[in-house]
Amino acid sequence: MDEKKVREAIELIRMEINTLEGIENCGRVIEARKKKHIALYNIAIEALEKQLPKKVDMRTEYRDSNGALVCFEGFCPSCGCAVEYYRNKSCNRCTQMLDWSKN
Ligand SMILES: [Zn+2]
Repeated sequence: MDEKKVREAIELIRMEINTLEGIENCGRVIEARKKKHIALYNIAIEALEKQLPKKVDMRTEYRDSNGALVCFEGFCPSCGCAVEYYRNKSCNRCTQMLDWSKN
């Protein structure tokens, strides 16, 4: 999914959470549903944020004896799982999209 759309969706969901949080004195049943919806929206935000690439931690370059690049390795910034460039555009464990660019 395109990063701009993901950011817009996160923003819209955050606004919806703010709206829900602003509803007061709505009775116990509605209050319970409100809390449930806020919890679900937060799960959706968490899933959407994983679509936005994050810099790999401790990105390391491996080169052969001629100095040619063999691969990059590092750690997922969200869960700490070891990741390797050629196999991982995203983390296999938590699905976080990875940014392999330098700095
Ligand atoms: Zn991960």
